[in-house]
Amino acid sequence: MMKVVTLASSSKGNCVLVMGEKTNLLIDAGININNLIEKLKRLNCDPNSITAILNTHEHSDHIKSVGGLMRKFGCLLYVHADGRDVVLKKIGNVDERKVISFFDQEFSVGEFKIKSFKLPHDAVSCVGFVVSCGNAKFAYATDLGFASEETIDNLKNCKLVILESNHDEKMLINNKNYSEILKRRILSRNGHLSNMASAKVVCTLAQNNVKQVVLAHLSLENNTPQLCYETVCAYLEAMGVVPGVNIKIDIAPAEHIGTVFVLK
Ligand SMILES: [Zn+2]
Ligand SMILES: [Zn+2]
Repeated sequence: MMKVVTLASSSKGNCVLVMGEKTNLLIDAGININNLIEKLKRLNCDPNSITAILNTHEHSDHIKSVGGLMRKFGCLLYVHADGRDVVLKKIGNVDERKVISFFDQEFSVGEFKIKSFKLPHDAVSCVGFVVSCGNAKFAYATDLGFASEETIDNLKNCKLVILESNHDEKMLINNKNYSEILKRRILSRNGHLSNMASAKVVCTLAQNNVKQVVLAHLSLENNTPQLCYETVCAYLEAMGVVPGVNIKIDIAPAEHIGTVFVLK
């Protein structure tokens, strides 16, 4: 059994809590530490019970309180070997014996089995995760410029997939507050997944045993939860997939605790 819940999800800060019977994990810790601790307490999760933080990449919306949590609660940090140096540079002084590098093979933390997969993003190293415990299996994939066949293969057959749906392309292109360079970066194959790109992935997942998707890491400037939801659902319907019947779609709230999913 595991419970999975987003604590925050947007370009401003990301954090997912995974609770098992004996082990609790965070995927990223990209929000203010006091805010994070407060949310854990609201979910009846003692911050001292966090065994480890799994890091996706070095951007500040994913690592803001990693160093603070390690210093305060002694949790371990799992980081891909390719991203270790840059992450260590950004999180301040930590006990390096608590920083564990992983490579591309599966590893275990408590009762969880964890497999990482590389994502195309403008970071030194960016990964997604498949976390499983018995038959309960979920995948996390945000911060990717496009979804490769390999990425999609990792998401298939998971009971829950948390997937980036970052921006509406038109909103981004028309956003006068964004420079052309920034727009090109976000739209590139090393940027972020658009609503439409995400819709196509969700459609493939619906045809491959995935029953629940959470759309995540929405841009606060170039997307809205409603537009994101409608774009994905309209695409699914056009492809003969019925949202809510063939696959359930949830949106991760940007700043609030999301739905608690219980996977068995
Ligand atoms: Zn991000
Ligand atoms: Zn990023």
